[in-house]
Amino acid sequence: MLISLVVPCYNEEEAMPLFYQEANRVAEEMKQSHGADFEFIFVNDGSKDGTLRTARALHEQDSRVRYVSFSRNFGKEAGIYAGLQAAKGDYVATLDADLQDPPALLPSMLDTLLTGDYDCAATRRTTRKGEPPIRSWFARMFYKIINKMSDTEIVDGARDFRLMSRKMVDAVLSMAEYNRFSKGIFSWVGFETKWFEYENVERVAGATKWNFWSLFKYSIEGIVGFSTTPLLVAAGAGVLFCIAAFIGILFVVVRALVFGDPTSGWPSLVCIILLCSGVQLFCTGIVGEYLAKTYLEVKHRPIYIVAETEEDRPHAR
Ligand code: UDP
Ligand code: MG
Repeated sequence: MLISLVVPCYNEEEAMPLFYQEANRVAEEMKQSHGADFEFIFVNDGSKDGTLRTARALHEQDSRVRYVSFSRNFGKEAGIYAGLQAAKGDYVATLDADLQDPPALLPSMLDTLLTGDYDCAATRRTTRKGEPPIRSWFARMFYKIINKMSDTEIVDGARDFRLMSRKMVDAVLSMAEYNRFSKGIFSWVGFETKWFEYENVERVAGATKWNFWSLFKYSIEGIVGFSTTPLLVAAGAGVLFCIAAFIGILFVVVRALVFGDPTSGWPSLVCIILLCSGVQLFCTGIVGEYLAKTYLEVKHRPIYIVAETEEDRPHAR
């Protein structure tokens, strides 16, 4: 039985050796308890630091370590996809390099899959300790909104830390879309999933790659990728404004007939024009967002481009 660990890495030279140490410890434990063999796949997502150097060094020291190095930064989602493609294991886990996804959970996750009742063991964090409160608030809002809008369930606090059977991995790989929102994809493919909960762990080294803006864009990505409800909202706004306009017309015409036609109402007219054009632009923006995603999708660009893998290097030992 082979288990692949897929680890997307962007500027993680400090965290990687610590991750390797911990993962190796768990691997040895599971060799004893489950007879499982391991491979570690580091995906270097165009890092600017010594991540690639570290990956090469780890490979030289331990041939179970493999790596895929991108030609530039393609984002974590692309990293996960590349790792899953490279993985040869019967079971594949995706986890972060910063030990925020504790490898120590793997034995119990594997136990779950070995019962044969589940194809996926997923994790969610129950707390958001160590996170700015405003960020937590926006995160909670995001999960509320997306779950109202989308048929695909996006679990609040779900991490990308999962252990999946080969069946599920192949299903995820069959979704070769360009705009990848992993949380949605994992949920969309279905399969029985057991959730493991744990408290938020802070990263061991290095800094988070997310700022407010990138998280905001990520959330839009998720909504546009897994729901077309915003388009309905836009259409609904159109209908609502038509009704309001109709009532307004009736009111103005009746008033003019009954009270004559005083030439006033310039301020109200300006307000109406501003409001209506604002709503129009907003709705055009929503439509534009979907069009943009469609545009990127139909170009069929590769999800990532590989610059180097461990096969380009002489084997260790
Ligand atoms: N990551 C990546 N490409 C990116 C950004 C992040 O491969 O463009 C990796 C990063 O190295 C880490 C994981 O994705 O292993 C999660 O990133 P991070 O810890 O910064 O996110 P957080 O845990 O704060 O949500
Ligand atoms: Mg992290």
